[in-house]
Amino acid sequence: MLTQAPKGTKDVLPEDSYRWQYVESRMRRAAAQAGYREVRTPVFEHTELFQRGVGDTTDIVQKEMYTFTDKGDRSITLRPEGTAGVVRAFLESGLYAGALPQKMYYLSAPVFRYEAPQSGRLREHHQFGMECFGAQEATVDAELILLAYSLFKNLGVSNLTVHINSIGCPKCRPKYHAELKNFLGERVGGMCETCKGRFERNPMRMLDCKEKRCQELVKDAPATIDMLCEECAAHFEQLKTCLDLSGIPYQVDTRVVRGLDYYTKTVFELITATKDGNLTVCGGGRYDNLVEELGGPAMPAAGFGMGIERVLMLLESEGIEIPKPEQYDVFVTYMGQGKLPAFQLVQALRNAGIRADMDHCTRSLKAQFKFANKTGARLCVTLGDDEVASGKATIKDMRLHQEQEAALADMPEAVKTMLKNESEE
Ligand code: ATP
Ligand code: MG
Repeated sequence: MLTQAPKGTKDVLPEDSYRWQYVESRMRRAAAQAGYREVRTPVFEHTELFQRGVGDTTDIVQKEMYTFTDKGDRSITLRPEGTAGVVRAFLESGLYAGALPQKMYYLSAPVFRYEAPQSGRLREHHQFGMECFGAQEATVDAELILLAYSLFKNLGVSNLTVHINSIGCPKCRPKYHAELKNFLGERVGGMCETCKGRFERNPMRMLDCKEKRCQELVKDAPATIDMLCEECAAHFEQLKTCLDLSGIPYQVDTRVVRGLDYYTKTVFELITATKDGNLTVCGGGRYDNLVEELGGPAMPAAGFGMGIERVLMLLESEGIEIPKPEQYDVFVTYMGQGKLPAFQLVQALRNAGIRADMDHCTRSLKAQFKFANKTGARLCVTLGDDEVASGKATIKDMRLHQEQEAALADMPEAVKTMLKNESEE
């Protein structure tokens, strides 16, 4: 028990964290290019925020939240998605009164859902998400889809399709709901328990069920896009025109309705095919009523959430290599009187921006070299009694098998030159 992480959680070990950092740096860059700035919100919020924000009829709120009562008798919930907390922060800080649109992103935010753990489904996962407040134009919806799509393209992913849909607004939805319930009425008996529960409260979510038999039964359900009001229809046309202009491949998929209650108009998913079926790596859309629903002014908004673990899974399944950085540039080995001069040299190298280290485990010189090799250090400098006395030492290039002598005081410059030469090889 003690040495076993809770079910559905995963460690990111030092051996692998570079993979996270690589995709994170791509995400930061993509966000910054479009004017999105980072927001960080607490891992836990008042439970009510998610009940109101995510929606009482969703799986998340009904079954998946990590909720507890704290010592002050408040009901607290670990973040089960990123948007509600960002909206809360937006409102609490009065950002709606500032320049709009307000564009924000969150990166590797931990998200908690009590789900049955399986491939691609964790109880703690991490999301990169982007949110844009205060803009109603479909150019924003298109921008978000393009940002997410280009991110994957630039990482080298090819197995990915963009699915878009429009689920209308409170104006067009009642008519659609009536028609949908009419259609589902004859079929609901054969569907799963969850879908039966959704029939009265949120029939549209039945289109999103992952059970095979339910998917089969809703195959010919009426489509929201056939019943959009004028405003929603024009918005959807504009979105498609923007996507056409940018030349990205996409398909209109009337089955995409998203699992959260807050969406209006545009919804989209980036889907990859795996051997176990389709996996959504990114989902988002427009949520024009959420800010008001949570007590703020009327404020259009749109965003997406992307699961980092699923992005990494996708890269791995496509065999996309992420360059693995070496741990050190230089390893300083020592003998005799060399220990403290080695310590000083390591500090001087680090101060010059070079990744350097020395033995801290009282190893033999041979073992020090072996360790240096394991860490992938490109250069080695050995300090013994002679080097300490002469104030000079030899830098060995472990890969090119070249050597160069330099004064200890000039070591950082000499090391930099050698590193530069090697990277040009
Ligand atoms: P799914 O349909 O796979 O359950 P979802 O609709 O619940 O996904 P969202 O709430 O839209 O997912 O979350 C955004 C993204 O977060 C998903 O597209 C996915 O990449 C990731 N994600 C969601 N749930 C999990 C999970 N349990 N484990 C790992 N990643 C997840
Ligand atoms: Mg889910």
